[in-house]
Amino acid sequence: MKIAVFPGSFDPITLGHESIVRRALPLFDRIIVAIGINAEKSGYFPIERRLEWLNQTFIDLPQVSVESYNGLTVDFCESVNADYIIRGLRTSADFEFERGVAQVNLKLVPEIETVFLLTLPEYVMVTSSIVREVHRHGGNVEQFIPEQITI
Ligand code: ADP
Repeated sequence: MKIAVFPGSFDPITLGHESIVRRALPLFDRIIVAIGINAEKSGYFPIERRLEWLNQTFIDLPQVSVESYNGLTVDFCESVNADYIIRGLRTSADFEFERGVAQVNLKLVPEIETVFLLTLPEYVMVTSSIVREVHRHGGNVEQFIPEQITI
């Protein structure tokens, strides 16, 4: 079984995240979309709502499950027997950041590989932080989030 974890804050899930999961499906038997809980940052939307939105988004995909975790992503991967981490790459800034994280993760657990998927061009500007900003000021975020959910 090829099991992959797609870790992130998903605060909230966007069309960019959804697209990465759907495009990664043919590569893996199972994908666990996992919210990493950061003790220092509670985030904008409550974890429970973020989990609910993830579940609603992937309700049609039996190979996808949704979880949250505390601590290191590689420890979570080991606990669910995942050998792969999925990350999306939007820009060269993402690449520089992700390279560091992935290389540290490889040092921690050499058996876990990070697999990168390039963002579709139409989603490069769709970030959770922009969605939060639009939402904070009362703007309509519908066009940036999966159609299965309402925020
Ligand atoms: P983090 O908590 O690490 O900031 P996010 O929840 O923002 O993570 O994103 C999780 C993953 O989704 C990251 O790999 C990020 O690069 C990717 N991602 C975020 N936005 C998009 C997008 N618009 N298109 C493709 N991938 C994206």
